[in-house]
Amino acid sequence: MRGFVYDQPAIRVIFGVGALDRLAEEVQRLGARRALVLATPEQRGDAEQAARRLGSAAAGVYAEAVMHVPIETARAARQEAHRLAADCCVAIGGGSTIGLGKAIALESGLPIVAVPTTYAGSEMTPIYGLTEGGLKRTGRDRKVLPRTVLYDPTLSVTLPPKISGPSGMNAIAHCVEGLYAQDANPIISLMAAEGIRALARSLPVVVLAPANLEARADALYGAWLAGTVLGATSMSIHHKLCHTLGGTFNLGHAEVHTVILPHAVAFNREAAPEAIRVVAEALGSKGAAQGIYDLAVRIGAPIALKDIGMPLDGLDRAAKLATENPYYNPRPVDYAGVRQLLEDAYYGKRPV
Ligand code: NAD
Repeated sequence: MRGFVYDQPAIRVIFGVGALDRLAEEVQRLGARRALVLATPEQRGDAEQAARRLGSAAAGVYAEAVMHVPIETARAARQEAHRLAADCCVAIGGGSTIGLGKAIALESGLPIVAVPTTYAGSEMTPIYGLTEGGLKRTGRDRKVLPRTVLYDPTLSVTLPPKISGPSGMNAIAHCVEGLYAQDANPIISLMAAEGIRALARSLPVVVLAPANLEARADALYGAWLAGTVLGATSMSIHHKLCHTLGGTFNLGHAEVHTVILPHAVAFNREAAPEAIRVVAEALGSKGAAQGIYDLAVRIGAPIALKDIGMPLDGLDRAAKLATENPYYNPRPVDYAGVRQLLEDAYYGKRPV
């Protein structure tokens, strides 16, 4: 066995149908009395409901979260937290909302109680992102790691199939890259394999029957594991490419992950055979890359960059940007290889 470092900060997790009923108790447990509840404009209703549950422990609702945390949004939210003398943030939503909570925590150190309603996994990571002048900068800081996470599958039943599917594929991507990460370790690898298993079996049910609580709970369990993997390891070519494509061409975060993943796996196939074998096994498929592609097709998620807004003449630039700064990947990253990967993803070719 390869030597490893295991260094996991503790997060308190409350999981299950009705977990949200514990919100007031959990906020109180942190010693907080004035929680600012965050959400996107679309989820204002969820935030207001959470504020009602908090009663006098709610300082206010701020439902202005948007994708990729623009610095202007972060500044306005920080001011609001300051104005209301908030002593805690409750982030109810997906990665965008939890990201806004992290932007506040980064500056003020306010504790976060996260209530995730997608499968993106941000609630389990010390990673934050801020977008300024069109450029997204990410960093790691344990200050932004939520203290408590309430996973309540009931909140995800309203997540439409076209968001649920790609969001789940985004979570699978964390697991896949965690398995071949430079800083992989055996415990995290167990979580990654189990995360893939849970998501692969639940997503087809989730998109067919969005109100199926059993499947929603299974998918959320997979998302929890996937987020833990993302927070504990460093990601490779897949995440690097998705970051570049999303930032430069303004493509949907979870959709890019869905489209790129089979091709990133095919790219790394020979260089990381053991990780790829585990992925295939967890998917119950003969080939890992094909298994991921077929799962995306089965759940009606996008499979081609051309269908999610990527311009054909952007492929050269994307390949250049993604190969500019050398970073760890099981297979050394070269322009020609990445350009081919992007072309296959552009047309949505099934990996062979
Ligand atoms: P999102 O948070 O942008 O949510 C997508 C849309 O779905 C929003 O309109 C939201 O209001 C809506 N929505 C969420 N839950 C819903 C529900 N249950 N019912 C109905 N609508 C619902 O999407 P996301 O994919 O969760 O997050 C993407 C963002 O998170 C990106 O900016 C990405 O970079 C970031 N992210 C960060 C990390 C990290 O560790 N820092 C990890 C993953 C993703």
